[in-house]
Amino acid sequence: MTSPAHAAKIIDGKAFAEALRGRIGAHVTRLGRQHGLVPGLAVVLVGEDPASQVYVRSKGRQAEACGIRSIDHRLAADTTEADLLALVEQLNQDPAIHGILVQLPLPPQIDPARVINAIAPDKDVDGFHVINAGRLATGQRTGPEAATVPCTPLGALMLLRDRLGDLIGRDALVLGRSNIVGRPMAQLLIQESCTVTVAHSKTQDLAAKCRAADILVAAVGRPELVRGDWIKPGATVIDVGINRISAPTPEKPDGTRLVGDVAFAEAIEIAGAITPVPGGIGPMTIACLLANSLTAACRQNGLAPPQL
Ligand code: NAD
Repeated sequence: MTSPAHAAKIIDGKAFAEALRGRIGAHVTRLGRQHGLVPGLAVVLVGEDPASQVYVRSKGRQAEACGIRSIDHRLAADTTEADLLALVEQLNQDPAIHGILVQLPLPPQIDPARVINAIAPDKDVDGFHVINAGRLATGQRTGPEAATVPCTPLGALMLLRDRLGDLIGRDALVLGRSNIVGRPMAQLLIQESCTVTVAHSKTQDLAAKCRAADILVAAVGRPELVRGDWIKPGATVIDVGINRISAPTPEKPDGTRLVGDVAFAEAIEIAGAITPVPGGIGPMTIACLLANSLTAACRQNGLAPPQL
């Protein structure tokens, strides 16, 4: 049972994402009625990775529920890089497709950077293209040339703003420096006028650095690495990690469960607010993909994207 004091600290990403999808759906309906425009999202999956298959199915289902047309391209695991690049080019040229997502990881014969950078930057709804990374790094967040921001850090920022209002002057620590989460998260927080520290696998005395943070974003992929006593009392904690660990029970000796990068039961005693795993950042990631797809469809048709 969650006590009322604990419940008040939980940042409910699932509920926030559901409301966001509702707003996206309403805008998509209006776009269809007023402009005859249906946003189109192409999702490309190469190979049979089971986790990727689950993500792709879930993305497609949620897109359709918002009125976004989702088109899956499933390619064999032995697809060549040239064939994948040819598909990306065909999608770049297709006016009915506004967003292109190539699900990572790709099989070893394909260079992911080459494929991502072949996507037209305005259709790069994951925000991984170097042009979008560059736009974000230079603070280009508005106008027709605005960066498309990677979905997971965008979702994290939405939850932080919702909980804290403006973030100006806060000390933020981003744990992890990947191109998908850590780096773009740090860029967004710099733009919000936080004082940002980026920690990683070579950081010395990680616990002390975490203890100085008003905002702690953990994106490492190490189960429960961040302990309760690493957290500054009252801090806001965003746990991006998704780790499956063994959790045997008498009924299910091979049972597993999902945990984050933060030891949740310890952290909730100290933090001011925290995202749970599951039900925190995960649902926000897909909702932000849909938001990016809607924004891309508007921009490609000379329309102002909605404020979501
Ligand atoms: P990654 O492996 O690309 O990067 C991990 C980062 O953590 C690296 O920068 C590394 O330096 C750092 N790191 C590793 N071990 C460390 C340690 N012991 N101490 C300090 N830093 C350490 O991972 P990623 O793609 O950024 O993903 C991170 C986690 O977030 C994973 O669990 C992943 O599953 C999860 N994730 C969740 C979502 C979501 O939608 N919720 C989206 C993307 C990633």
